[in-house]
Amino acid sequence: MSHLVPFFSLQFIHRQVQEEIHRAIREVYEKNQFILGSQVQSFERAYAAYSGVPYCVGVANGLDALYISLKILGVSPTDEVIVPAHTYIATWLAISRAQAHIVPVDVDEQTMLIDVKKVASLISKKTKIILPVHLYGQPCNMEPLTDLAHKLGIAIVEDNAQAHGASDHKIKTGSFGQCNATSFYPTKNLGALGDGGAITTHSKAIYEQALSFRNYGSTERFVNPQIGINSRLDELQAAVLLIKLKYLDQWNEERKSLSAHYNATLTGVGDLLLPQTSAHQNHVFHLFVIRSKQRNELQAFLAAKGIETFIHYPTPPHLQKAYRHLGYQPGDFPISESLAATALSLPLWPGLSEQQVAFVCNAIRYFYENLSARNKSFSGVDS
Ligand SMILES: *Cc1c(COP(=O)(O)O)cnc(C)c1O
Repeated sequence: MSHLVPFFSLQFIHRQVQEEIHRAIREVYEKNQFILGSQVQSFERAYAAYSGVPYCVGVANGLDALYISLKILGVSPTDEVIVPAHTYIATWLAISRAQAHIVPVDVDEQTMLIDVKKVASLISKKTKIILPVHLYGQPCNMEPLTDLAHKLGIAIVEDNAQAHGASDHKIKTGSFGQCNATSFYPTKNLGALGDGGAITTHSKAIYEQALSFRNYGSTERFVNPQIGINSRLDELQAAVLLIKLKYLDQWNEERKSLSAHYNATLTGVGDLLLPQTSAHQNHVFHLFVIRSKQRNELQAFLAAKGIETFIHYPTPPHLQKAYRHLGYQPGDFPISESLAATALSLPLWPGLSEQQVAFVCNAIRYFYENLSARNKSFSGVDS
């Protein structure tokens, strides 16, 4: 089905950087070095600087970045990791792969992000790590979270897969935790032309361990002081990311400006709940997520008008079959469950036009106007 307003498109930004990227790919091709060469090193330096940390290690994807972070911080099967109940399931999968205990925490109803007060109530002697997720591009409220973690000697690992360039109190996400993970999946704010990920850290020791762990547990050929995995960012992806990183702020500004249009036009429409941000947060709008009790009808209505939308996410991890063994029931994390029932992500990408945003907003307004007209006539018949 072809959409008048697709949910996402790389067409615009890829046209913008086409020549630079073609040249960079050709250079890697002609140099004949594809793994752990100068492109990866340059990108790691550039992304570390961008994130406000001294060190970055490129890895194969975001899930590996999370897993490696947990392993380096010494997570063992008796340890607990506190993680939001409302996130993409990959955050949970990394904890499972590290064989630690998943301790889900419900999110804040307004921000849809990890709730620090609830985190405090879940701390036990076994709590090893708190894993906040800057979901939809919105930074978690990091000050109280880092205060709590420092006080208790618990490490923080940020899942920064959706928030490249976001900041809280002007401090970049991906620079708060001991070891932080991100993804360069093609649709993220900074996306490769395939899989990619990275770890960012302030610690030289963690940096050196990550360098080794991603490469069979080795930094010197045929010398293996530890058991590692193969999870490398490759030269072609690093070359592409190095170019796209230069444009990230510009593309994030575009996301923010389109989101401001959505916000201004949709304020007060129907029962819509719009994204809630604070002045100290720089939300980079990986997704523009609205909430409505009529979500399913609204989504179907928009689809009929040629507007493509998605639900992030229709089933929370604790209710997925994969996590049935944890024994959770509907009702255990009510806010996360209500988000699964009400959240709707509207089309958003750099290059989407203001006219397209206006078209989407008009369709949404029309939906609610007709809905109230329908409801009025129904109540007229009933009474
Ligand atoms: C995309 C994503 C991941 C996983 O990244 P991959 O590169 O696809 O492995 C993890 N967490 C969140 C929140 C994500 O959005």
